[in-house]
Amino acid sequence: MEKFVYLFHEGNGNMRDLLGGKGANLAEMTRIGLPVPFGFTITTQACNAYYESGKTIPNLVEKQTIEALAALEEKMGKKLGDPQNPLLVSVRSGSVFSMPGMMDTILNLGMNDETVVGVAKLTNNPRFAYDSYRRFIQMFSNVVLEIDTFFFEQLLEDTREQKGYSVDPEMTAEDWQEIISGYKEIVKKHTRKEFPQDPREQLFLAINAVFNSWNNQRAIVYRRLNKIPDHLGTAVNVQSMVFGNMGDDSGTGVAFTRNPSTGEPVLYGEYLINAQGEDVVAGIRTPQPIATLKEEMPEVYQQFADTCHRLEQHYQEMQDIEFTVERGKLFILQTRNGKRTAQAAIRIVVDMEKEGIIDKKTALLRVDPDQLNQLLHRRIDDSVPKTILAKGLPASPGAATGQVVFDADEAEQLGNEGKKVILVSPETTPDDIHGMVASQAILTSRGGMTSHAAVVARGMGKACICGCEALKIDMKGKFFTVGDTVVRHGDVITIDGSTGEIMLGEIPMIDPELSEEFQQLLTWADEERKIGVRANADNPEDAKKSFEFGAGGIGLCRTEHMFMDIKRIPIVQKMILAENFNERMEALEQLLPMQQDDFEGIFEAMQGYPVTIRLLDPPLHEFLPDKEELLVEVTKLQILEPQSDELKQKEQLLKKVRQLDEFNPMLGHRGCRLGMIYPEIYEMQAKAIFYAAAALAEKGMAVKPEIMIPLVGHVNELKQMRQLVIDAAVKVQEETGKQFEYTIGTMIEIPRAALTADKIAEEADFFSFGTNDLTQTTFGYSRDDAEGKFLQAYIENKVLPENPFAVLDQEGVGKLVEMGVKLGRKTKPSLKTGICGEHGGEKSSIDFCYRAGLDYVSCSPYRVPLARLAAAQATI
Ligand code: PEP
Ligand code: MG
Repeated sequence: MEKFVYLFHEGNGNMRDLLGGKGANLAEMTRIGLPVPFGFTITTQACNAYYESGKTIPNLVEKQTIEALAALEEKMGKKLGDPQNPLLVSVRSGSVFSMPGMMDTILNLGMNDETVVGVAKLTNNPRFAYDSYRRFIQMFSNVVLEIDTFFFEQLLEDTREQKGYSVDPEMTAEDWQEIISGYKEIVKKHTRKEFPQDPREQLFLAINAVFNSWNNQRAIVYRRLNKIPDHLGTAVNVQSMVFGNMGDDSGTGVAFTRNPSTGEPVLYGEYLINAQGEDVVAGIRTPQPIATLKEEMPEVYQQFADTCHRLEQHYQEMQDIEFTVERGKLFILQTRNGKRTAQAAIRIVVDMEKEGIIDKKTALLRVDPDQLNQLLHRRIDDSVPKTILAKGLPASPGAATGQVVFDADEAEQLGNEGKKVILVSPETTPDDIHGMVASQAILTSRGGMTSHAAVVARGMGKACICGCEALKIDMKGKFFTVGDTVVRHGDVITIDGSTGEIMLGEIPMIDPELSEEFQQLLTWADEERKIGVRANADNPEDAKKSFEFGAGGIGLCRTEHMFMDIKRIPIVQKMILAENFNERMEALEQLLPMQQDDFEGIFEAMQGYPVTIRLLDPPLHEFLPDKEELLVEVTKLQILEPQSDELKQKEQLLKKVRQLDEFNPMLGHRGCRLGMIYPEIYEMQAKAIFYAAAALAEKGMAVKPEIMIPLVGHVNELKQMRQLVIDAAVKVQEETGKQFEYTIGTMIEIPRAALTADKIAEEADFFSFGTNDLTQTTFGYSRDDAEGKFLQAYIENKVLPENPFAVLDQEGVGKLVEMGVKLGRKTKPSLKTGICGEHGGEKSSIDFCYRAGLDYVSCSPYRVPLARLAAAQATI
């Protein structure tokens, strides 16, 4: 008989798949003897069985739940619904992967008109009893009966105002009783039924609601964002209640065993006296820092600090712990691996390795390469004076500038249009996720460092400031004020999530530097990895950055980017417009020294590391004006200045643009096909490279250029271009009297090249897989159009698992890569191989490249640290 329900002491920490993260941790903490309120977990399998039975709880699940409840009642010496000695429970969801704020929680279940009297007597605290009952009605009504919290909040606020109170603790037991009657009226009005009084009915309705919440809209969005499979299901945890709202010797809080923002090894968290858990998480009241607890309740603090230490040692991971103090007694309600910023993630693993808690390999595996992005972002330039408008809590580091918006839907819309926006709101809820994704940063006026906005922003690596109480937000009027300053919808602000500072307008930013711990982790990565990491860089500045970030060379220097320079474009155009060979040569001779200069700069920046330079690749029309625009200009001139020289020039230009016009330029006259038809262009480029090499040889710096021929599909193309490059080298060596080494290779970016790689290798010293074009040509998807037209829908509808232009399609394109490497090495065992498409900076693709036996990956400079780490992870 399948077991669907586990008492906490029957499970353990390894049963995540079945018990969910929360359930497994509760079981584990029970097992090691921590003060966890007793309870049971209904498994994720039960959730799946629920959906398979058409959203009803199967009999077996019901039966086992009732048995577990009996065991819980026996252990606690209380009974659900017993008016004299009632058991109260919390019902919480818990999936395999933590999904913060995505699922629903119900506290104080078991409260009804009779048990509330029992609780009042037992605790000798009627105020507490009625407060708990009204909380239960509100939560249950919202989560299970789906009545908007607004109605309850409104009644509460009106009553408070009527009685002249400013905060809840002023409410008396009688006041809460009055509220309860009002709440019941609301329920009756909205459901046309009485609020359910039978605690068993309450329990099963709650279990149903948790199962249903697995498929609510925000949970689905979160899963999609985080690539969590839909079939996992959620478990349900039923746990006896402990109360943080029993008076001033009670409280509740959340704490991290280390600072989740910086990684500093100190307890970090917040708590509220005389409150229940949701008050902290929801960010409605701004809590106290955990350090204050040391003064207020020294013994409890010490016990808590010891427990935190024990949990961290036990899990060998930074923990995020929820606790409650009931009349001076500490209870641990939950522990899980804490979410953290990239900066903290790195500091924590490096510290933990030094503290002997984990080894280097574990440290390397613990940091998600994608998270590193956060650290490589720009930050505010401190040398520029700035006026701070307001300061809030530094909830997630990084700086951002954008237009203020107050609505998540609008943030999404503007963000998708490419506008930079900052979402400003009193607080965020899981329903705002889509808007947070599309924003540059998030700013809230309420809530602490563990509020929804803070947790989610940190997870997304977005800058976030929360709890900025100086901000008076008017959501209806779409503006906020700080003192006399009014900031309206659409105004530009800058926020610094590392300091909590908010500034008006745009503030200059500077490039990041890597911390000592970051360097340490990357050094470990370099020791571990067996695949090289290079950068794609086209100018000395990017080359310098790449070198700083630890690139072991340049895997792709796209020479056309040097042509795009505003001062050079007219000369490039002159070359394209040339009517004959001599005219073209004249322009090329002007370009040569400019290219040579660039190459010298790049070689110098790379200090002797290999540099792969690709000869001209794009179709020539990319260097000419847009056809439509030119046509308009010519027509205007024909009317206004029919005799002018300008018209003649423009007409000539238009003629050339028309000549070069192609139906499918990406499959047209580009890559080595340009060199085949205009060999003088490639010859000029090769010479510029060699002159640069000779010039550096003169300075005593040995450089080893790798000249790369793009878009080869037939070995004969490479054969011819190779000879051209060799001839250029000989000429330069003779002319300068300098010797230098060089190699000649090709890109593999056309399926035919991969299929005939054995032939092509005869003419190549190296292969570099251009997986951008190889993806385009293998799928037959235009890389310029597919994403906007149909690819997004393909991914959403799961026709494709991922965007193949971002994540290498291992099954198809990858097969060509593997074939290319294998065939190439059959001909030439020493053949050097690399990848220089966008995939070279994506972690799963890097893992693939390592397995396919490539020598290196090459990616944009800012992704080099990520690639170093991912390359190390591939080998572990
Ligand atoms: C490629 O095709 O993968 C490549 C690196 O070249 P480009 O993106 O310049 O076409
Ligand atoms: Mg290409």
